[in-house]
Amino acid sequence: MRIVFIGPPGAGKGTQSARLARYLGIPHLSTGEILRNAKKAGTDLGKIVGPIMDSGGLVGDELMLDVVAERLAADDCNAGFLLDGFPRTVPQAKAFDQFLASRSMHIDHVIELRVADVEIIKRLETRFRDMKDPRADDNPESIPRRLNVYHNETSPLLGYYARQGNVLKKVDGLGTVDTVFDRILLSIGRGIPRAPRDTRHW
Ligand code: AMP
Repeated sequence: MRIVFIGPPGAGKGTQSARLARYLGIPHLSTGEILRNAKKAGTDLGKIVGPIMDSGGLVGDELMLDVVAERLAADDCNAGFLLDGFPRTVPQAKAFDQFLASRSMHIDHVIELRVADVEIIKRLETRFRDMKDPRADDNPESIPRRLNVYHNETSPLLGYYARQGNVLKKVDGLGTVDTVFDRILLSIGRGIPRAPRDTRHW
């Protein structure tokens, strides 16, 4: 199964997508994490993308496609994958569709995690304040820029995928981690995996 996760920063995309990938037994590919690791390791890629990420901007489409293509070439992606943070622009999505089509593949589900801006700002401010080692791009100054980038560059993707039949699944991202995860499973046609506790009320 091939899944793409879309959502504004702070929507819970990282948590939910990692959990879904574990549930489905497919690798969780976070492009943000790949880039952060490259930055930490001081590789050539890391040196290019570091300042862009810290400012809340987007890394160039061609470079991102190369990063993703290289990761998808690994054997663990043969049975499927979950992409968290890619594609993030319409040109990335178009190029990625071509990439998949040339390999006789397609995306099964695009999951949009929806959270309103006011809630996002609250969550990101808390994340920056409470984390021992906060991400540089969670600093309060870059939040408005990241939200703008999301609305201007990434949200047009939703229209792009909405035109591709039934691939786009819109999920409300407000609620507990478990509640949102249940919604995600339902959106992709999977039942809710509940522990067999008290069944009298079912
Ligand atoms: P994320 O962890 O997904 O929020 O990504 C962190 C940062 O990495 C973003 O703010 C971008 O600077 C960069 N990034 C991650 N994925 C992409 C992508 N698909 N296209 C461009 N930039 C990206």
